[in-house]
Amino acid sequence: MKKRILVIPGDGIGPEVTKWGQKVLECIGEKFGHEFSFDYGIMGHIAIEKTGKPLPEETLEKAKNSDAILFGAIGHPKYDNDPTAKVRPEQGLLAIRKELGLFANIRPIKLFDELLNASPIKPEVLKGSDILFFRELTGGIYFGKPQERRDNGNTAVDTCIYTREEITRIAKLAFDFAMKRRKKLTLVDKANVLETSRLWREVVQEVAKSYPEVETSYMFVDAMSMALIRSPTKFDVILTENMFGDILTDEASQIAGSMGMLASASIGSKVGLYEPIHGSAPDIAGKGIANPIASVLSAALLLEIAFGMKKESESIVNAIDKTLKNGYRTIDISDINTDTSKILSTDEIGEKIIERI
Ligand code: NAD
Repeated sequence: MKKRILVIPGDGIGPEVTKWGQKVLECIGEKFGHEFSFDYGIMGHIAIEKTGKPLPEETLEKAKNSDAILFGAIGHPKYDNDPTAKVRPEQGLLAIRKELGLFANIRPIKLFDELLNASPIKPEVLKGSDILFFRELTGGIYFGKPQERRDNGNTAVDTCIYTREEITRIAKLAFDFAMKRRKKLTLVDKANVLETSRLWREVVQEVAKSYPEVETSYMFVDAMSMALIRSPTKFDVILTENMFGDILTDEASQIAGSMGMLASASIGSKVGLYEPIHGSAPDIAGKGIANPIASVLSAALLLEIAFGMKKESESIVNAIDKTLKNGYRTIDISDINTDTSKILSTDEIGEKIIERI
């Protein structure tokens, strides 16, 4: 198969980890006889520095003309500590999602058995956890207008808006995936307080009628934030709106042991974006210690979802599994039982994974 992949490394640890996502794709191309060609784009802080814009037109054009996008992370402390900054790296990511119509963010939360002890949650609670999050990505409070200051800056307004159509399209997608899994779906909302949540419930109840085999349940977001770490094995597909999904998936990352272990896919139209769930991690950027596994898993998701290459994707996951079984770790997933000679740098663990593919 011939495919064009756009690589957007971004800021901070983005380039350090995305290098390994790309190397793994090259390795798979050789092993399975596919022709992957790579082009590169800038976005985030690096793009603001070079062009003044967080998402330059050139990057967007390249994105539209590719078959899939492998993205790293964006963000820089300069903007995080300056709430008055008008141009911000995150605007690049929000804009590319909107421009490409990527309304669904899919985040698999699966624990490698070898990492049962790397999580702060008890192993017996965690064992067997396998959750697929569906987070709505282009609506809700992150996009609703007005978003402004009033009263000389002393009052702030954010607006949460959802339409029936926005909820229906992601609900159908989530139910379709649930049918291919354990056939359980939980909608997370705050329907006891929010009008938008009541619309979510109404629409999901409606869509559920077309999927009688799926056991559908409903949970308030506050209850879910507790249940997720108390009994994670109870859940299969979790569907939720933009902000709740943003928060809950970071919480769920602790099930997998580290932010450095989770990938996500943003889909919805022709071209999807595949990325680690973590940010640019300025605290460890440039030190060569970032965990590249989330980027490598993003490459695996890209192969499976964008190109339908299931066995190629599995061979990546198996190689990660073997690397972990052989005792190799980056610092973030090491614990007191780790043989310190097997705590590796980003590049060293990347090489180990490639060797095992
Ligand atoms: P973060 O995900 O960058 O880091 C949170 C913590 O996890 C840090 O201690 C970091 O060292 C650790 N971590 C993250 N990825 C890791 C990896 N691969 N290996 C080892 N440890 C890892 O979140 P943050 O610190 O809240 O945000 C930093 C910047 O990233 C901010 O500017 C934020 O806006 C941005 N951000 C970007 C994205 C994105 O690009 N999708 C997502 C979240 C945050």
